[in-house]
Amino acid sequence: MTDELFREDARLTQCEAHVVAVDASGIRLDRTVFYPQGGGQAGDAGVLRLADGHELRIVDTKKGAAPGEIVHLPAPDADLTLLAVGTPVTAQIDWQRRHRHMRFHTATHLLCALIPHPVDGCSITADYARLDFHMTEPLDKESLNAGLARLVGEAHAVSHRWISEAELDANPQLVRSMSVQPPRGQGRVRVMEVEGVDLQPCGGTHVANTTEIGHVVVTKIEKKSAKTRRVVLGFAE
Ligand SMILES: [Zn+2]
Repeated sequence: MTDELFREDARLTQCEAHVVAVDASGIRLDRTVFYPQGGGQAGDAGVLRLADGHELRIVDTKKGAAPGEIVHLPAPDADLTLLAVGTPVTAQIDWQRRHRHMRFHTATHLLCALIPHPVDGCSITADYARLDFHMTEPLDKESLNAGLARLVGEAHAVSHRWISEAELDANPQLVRSMSVQPPRGQGRVRVMEVEGVDLQPCGGTHVANTTEIGHVVVTKIEKKSAKTRRVVLGFAE
C-alpha cells in the first residue's frame, strides 16, 4: 500500500519517497503526494526528481490493481533505467494544475448544497468540472451562479475527518453520490465538511476555505437524459 500523504494534507506539493516497483505500467512509491484519478477527480501530474537532479516527468496518476496501490504514469520520454527498487526520489506535483482540481472539487460540494438531488456522475479536471444530478426539474443558471458567489464569499471553512463505517451506516443520507460509493473495508470513511453547507464522504482534495475557490461560474446546463441534468463549471478569469 502506498502512504497517501494527500489525504491528510492536500497542500503538500512534494515529499521524499523510495521506488517500490517500476515497470512499463508505471512507477510505485512507498509514499506520495500524487492523487490518483478517482471519485471523479483527475490524477496528478508532476515530476520525480533524483538525487543527482535528473527529473522524470509524470503525466498522470492512477490507482493500481491492488487495494491502496498508486501508479505514477511516466511521460514517454522518461528514462526508467534511472530508477530501481529502493531509489530515493523527490515526488513533486504540478501544483498549478492540482490547485485548479481542488478549487473545482470544492465548488462541486457547493453545487451539491444548492441542488438537493442525488449525484450520478462527476468529472473534475483543471479546465472544467461537471456534475450530473438525478432530477427532472429545470435548473436556472443565474440563480446557481448567485448561490455559488454567495457561498464562496461567505468564507466557509473546509475540513475533513474520519468516521467509522458503522457511523456512516447509521447516517445513509450522508451519501450524495449514486455513482461513487465510499471505499469500504478499512473500517473508516473520510468525510468532507464545508462548514454549515455540505457534509459527505469524499476522498478527493479540496481547498481550506471557500474563498480560495475564487470566481467559478456555471458555463452550461444540459438535459443529459430524461432524469439527468448536467451542470458544467468553469473559472471566470
Ligand atoms: Zn470532495
